[in-house]
Amino acid sequence: MSAPGTTIFEHMSGLARELGAINLGQGFPELPEPPELIAAAQRALGERSNQYPPMRGIPELRAAVAGYYARTQGLTLSAEQVIVTSGGTEALAATVFALVAPGDEVVLVQPLYDAYLPLVQWAGGTAKVISLTSPEWTLPIETLKAAIGPKTRGIVLNTPNNPVGTMLSRETLEAIGEVAEAHDLWVLCDEVWEAMVFDGTPHVSPLAIPSLARRSVKVGSAGKIFSMTGWKVGWAVAAPALAAKIAARHQFLTFTTPPALQWAAAEGLALPDTWFAAQRARYTALKARLVSGLEAAGFIVLPASGTWFITLDLAASGLPADDVLLSERLVREAKVASIPVSAFYAERPEKGFLRLCFTKDEAVLDEAVARLAAFRAALA
Ligand code: GLN
Repeated sequence: MSAPGTTIFEHMSGLARELGAINLGQGFPELPEPPELIAAAQRALGERSNQYPPMRGIPELRAAVAGYYARTQGLTLSAEQVIVTSGGTEALAATVFALVAPGDEVVLVQPLYDAYLPLVQWAGGTAKVISLTSPEWTLPIETLKAAIGPKTRGIVLNTPNNPVGTMLSRETLEAIGEVAEAHDLWVLCDEVWEAMVFDGTPHVSPLAIPSLARRSVKVGSAGKIFSMTGWKVGWAVAAPALAAKIAARHQFLTFTTPPALQWAAAEGLALPDTWFAAQRARYTALKARLVSGLEAAGFIVLPASGTWFITLDLAASGLPADDVLLSERLVREAKVASIPVSAFYAERPEKGFLRLCFTKDEAVLDEAVARLAAFRAALA
């Protein structure tokens, strides 16, 4: 999927640093960070214990996560269902290690985030890989059904999807629920982009679907919700029996997560709705800035509801349609780093799409558009 030992994100960020390129590759904001959260963490460092917090997370954060999902997604959860982890990635790892036994088959859906496949393999499992149908990136239920065999134990989902930003509808999740019930499968759903939805599409978690609620694990991330990706505070949420299994793995992965950051995340999740609305408005405007800039320059951007990314359709945009070669040329020649969508494929890659991150200030986005337009003009 990427150079051995190095993720595509590290590779591109490394090249961007080395070449002084604008980095629209790896997904992280380069914007002012929320002062409320920084102050809360500073206060917690000075005033609270810095010793091991409870293994499953401080009760205040577990309750705050349950409260946040009640408010934003209408979910009825108890704090007992929440396991705090060191980032969404650790929640994914603890869940996969809890649920996958050697010889198990797990259905993965491409484009897929790069950690899913190695985690399943490290647990001794085998991946059955199916693909969303481009360019709408819908999930073909018949293909999902056909992928399920006697050894299939679970499905990994991601909504909103990284890299392409599309979401699983309630109807699709209900259809997946029927399949999961029929074959007694668990569902691991990576929802770290749930707060980053910019077109009003409702985010639906498998935990909101009756047939899936008992068999699903929802992964969330404070680093994403509060735009501080380095904090690595996340969580897994599941029915109590599943949550206990995840906690048993978490205790031997990272055991606990820095308490000051947990206190800050708990305070952050309790911020008023107006705070979250203002943050969403800021990101909506940045996304619109990049999309309209690219479209005015004649590039074709695919529709997307969420995440920090937009997807360029290369052929339609008059660019060479090999995303890996193009992203290498763009970072060196145009000095703009991007991520090839094919890096999110384990097999049968789609090569015609490029991911760009829009969480940068307006001037940076404008300069990136100008550089991309100049690069394409020079190709003619
Ligand atoms: N989630 C980030 C992205 O998609 C990358 C995280 C990482 O670099 N491992 O860009």
